[in-house]
Amino acid sequence: MAHKITLIPGDGIGREVSQAALRCIEATGVDIKWEEALAGAETLEKTGEILPQGVLDSIRRNKVAHKGPITTPIGTGFRSVNVAIRQALELFACVRPAKSYAGVRSKFRDIDLVIVRENSEDLYMGIEFEEGKPETKSLIAQIGKDTKKNIRLDSGISIKPISKFASQRIARFAFEYALKNNRKKVTCVHKANIMKFTDGLFLKVAREVAQEYSGRIIFEEAIVDNMSMQLVVKPHKYDVLLLPNLYGDILSDLCAGLIGGLGVAPGANIGTDCAVFEAVHGSAPKYKGQNKVNPIAMILSGVLMLRHIKEDKAAEALENAVKEVLAEGKSLTYDLKADPLDPSAVGTKEMADAVIKKIKR
Ligand code: NAD
Repeated sequence: MAHKITLIPGDGIGREVSQAALRCIEATGVDIKWEEALAGAETLEKTGEILPQGVLDSIRRNKVAHKGPITTPIGTGFRSVNVAIRQALELFACVRPAKSYAGVRSKFRDIDLVIVRENSEDLYMGIEFEEGKPETKSLIAQIGKDTKKNIRLDSGISIKPISKFASQRIARFAFEYALKNNRKKVTCVHKANIMKFTDGLFLKVAREVAQEYSGRIIFEEAIVDNMSMQLVVKPHKYDVLLLPNLYGDILSDLCAGLIGGLGVAPGANIGTDCAVFEAVHGSAPKYKGQNKVNPIAMILSGVLMLRHIKEDKAAEALENAVKEVLAEGKSLTYDLKADPLDPSAVGTKEMADAVIKKIKR
């Protein structure tokens, strides 16, 4: 029976990379019935809605979506569609593998680590108090009363909630992921020395969950600033990284840099009921419509999606095809070239064509 999957092409470079990935996924022979759902800046212009309810309904119905990047309009009062989708569908785990592929220029070889980022809480909950507003002033006054700490009256405030529930849920997810994927170690990344009641709680819960896996998965801890340094010096030391939302976001891009850039970094947002697969990169609006950017991150997100729907053979065939194209080095987009102006760079579509040619069904 055909898999029904929601396809959100996104905007900016979204349509180009989604289309490229879709063609590659279809070339594996897997039977998929796509249900297109539009969201983002262009949808806003046409319909007045940036995230129509139909998009969420479609994902809820199909349980799985493949999503292109979506621009967050600046200065319109709209928060990120990406964050809104993750929150509405409780996609609490963001999984971002950072894996080296031969042929991709990068500072390191043979990196194979996975970021598991808590996706529902932390500073991303969007609980913010604007500078100068009456509610901000009253919050500042209340904090002064309760803590004897003086916050300047002209401050803006963002709230960072981290709960025991969500910390347990993501820690367990990270350990289960490690077990299922033959990983050896989970490293919890935090700043518990400074934020004792938020990061401190995250770490405490991670330690407790780690005990349930003792003897099967090694558990380590690292403070986020030290971790940033360790990752650019000795990335091979790490396996699965477990992080709260903000640090996860920042270190995902750092890890993408370790393996050759955003053009090759895939991701998945996973919840109890639904999963949305998307590249780490954004909508790079300046490259829109130029058939220029790298489709590999979206194609590899498709590989993660195929594994999720238990189409392992197709996933392997697609990943192997990507590996071959990268290693061969003939059909590479500009970002994978030593000189980005190299005239032998191919376009988005042509790189996808090269992958399709290598798929062994
Ligand atoms: P970006 O990832 O879109 O682009 C940053 C730079 O990275 C680009 O200018 C380009 O040089 C490079 N790049 C990105 N993707 C590439 C690809 N596939 N191939 C080659 N090079 C690539 O980040 P940004 O400029 O900070 O964000 C642009 C918009 O995207 C913003 O509105 C942001 O909110 C949004 N965004 C969306 C998502 C998402 O949909 N999940 C994620 C991040 C950012």
